[in-house]
Amino acid sequence: MKLIEGKTIADIVYAECAREFEALKADGHTPGLAVVLVGDDPASRAYVGSKERKCQELGMHSVKIEKPATISQDELHAVIEELNNDDAIHGILVQLPLPDGLDEDEVILRIDPAKDVDGLHPVNIGKLAMEDPTGFAPCTPSGCQRMLVESGIETSGRNVVIVGRSLLVGKSLALLMMGKGEGANATVTVAHSRTKDLAAVTREADILVAAIGIPKFIGPDHVKEGAVVIDVGINRIDDPTAKKGSRLVGDVDFEAVAEKCEAITPVPGGVGRMTIAMLMANTIRACRLRQSRDS
Ligand code: NAD
Repeated sequence: MKLIEGKTIADIVYAECAREFEALKADGHTPGLAVVLVGDDPASRAYVGSKERKCQELGMHSVKIEKPATISQDELHAVIEELNNDDAIHGILVQLPLPDGLDEDEVILRIDPAKDVDGLHPVNIGKLAMEDPTGFAPCTPSGCQRMLVESGIETSGRNVVIVGRSLLVGKSLALLMMGKGEGANATVTVAHSRTKDLAAVTREADILVAAIGIPKFIGPDHVKEGAVVIDVGINRIDDPTAKKGSRLVGDVDFEAVAEKCEAITPVPGGVGRMTIAMLMANTIRACRLRQSRDS
C-alpha cells in the first residue's frame, strides 16, 4: 500500500508557485489575496490563519478582512465591491460557511469572476464544465486531481466513483475527472445520500473518492482490492486519549481499508494540505492572467 502524502505534493505546487511568483515580481507584479472572515467560528479562523501564513511565506500581498456576524448582507456586498476594485488584490476568498442569516450564493455572485480563486462563481463553474482554461476550479477537487497526477496514478479510462455531490467537492471533481487532459478522461460515477446499495457502486471503483462528512463511513466492504482511495473528509471526533480530547479523522476508516488499497491518502496530512496549495496557485495564476489582459 502506498501512502499519498499531501505535504510532499503540496510542496511541489509551492515550488511552482515560488518560481511563478519570482517571474511576476521581475515583471513588477505582486500577487495579492484577500480573505474575508465573517463571525467567530474557530475552525474558519484557523483556516484563514493558515492561508495568511502561506501567503506570507510565499511573499505575497495578503489582506485579512474580519467582520462581525452581525454584518448585513449589503455591508458584506460593499466589502466585496471594494476588493473587486482594488488593483493590489488578484484573489478574493470568502471563508465559508457564513454565519446564519447571510446568503452565501448572493455574496459569491458579487465576486469578480477573474478574482474568484475559490472557483465557486457560476462563471467559473461554467468554465469548468466547458473546460475553458481561463477559469478557476475549486481548490479541493483540483487538489485531489493533482495528487493523482503527481502520484503517477492513471485516470484515463478508469472507473472513478465519487461519494458526495457538493459543488465544493464532489460535483466539481466529477467535472474535472470526466474532462480531457491530465488526471482526467475517467469514467465517473457520482454517488450520494440517495444512492441505492452504495457499497455495490463503490466496489466498482478503481479510484474511490469520499467527500461525505461522516467519520470513517467508508469501510472495507465499500472498497475493491487494489483500489486507490482519496479521502476528502475532515471530521473532528472525541478521543479522550488525545491531548485536546479530540482528533481529526476522514470519511474513510483508514485502518480497516488501507491494506486493501493500492494507494490511499491519510487524514490529517492528505487532501487538506492540497487545498491551500491550490488556492495559492490560483491566486498567482489570477495575477498572471490579469497582467496578460492588461498588457
Ligand atoms: P456536504 O455536506 O456539502 O456534502 C456531503 C455529500 O455527502 C452530499 O452530497 C451527500 O449527498 C453525501 N452523503 C451524505 N450522507 C451520505 C450517505 N449516507 N451515503 C452517501 N452519500 C452521502 O459536504 P462537503 O462540503 O462536500 O464536504 C465533505 C467532506 O469533505 C466533509 O468532511 C468536509 O469537512 C470535507 N472537506 C474537506 C476539505 C479539505 O480541504 N480537505 C474541503 C472541503 C470539504
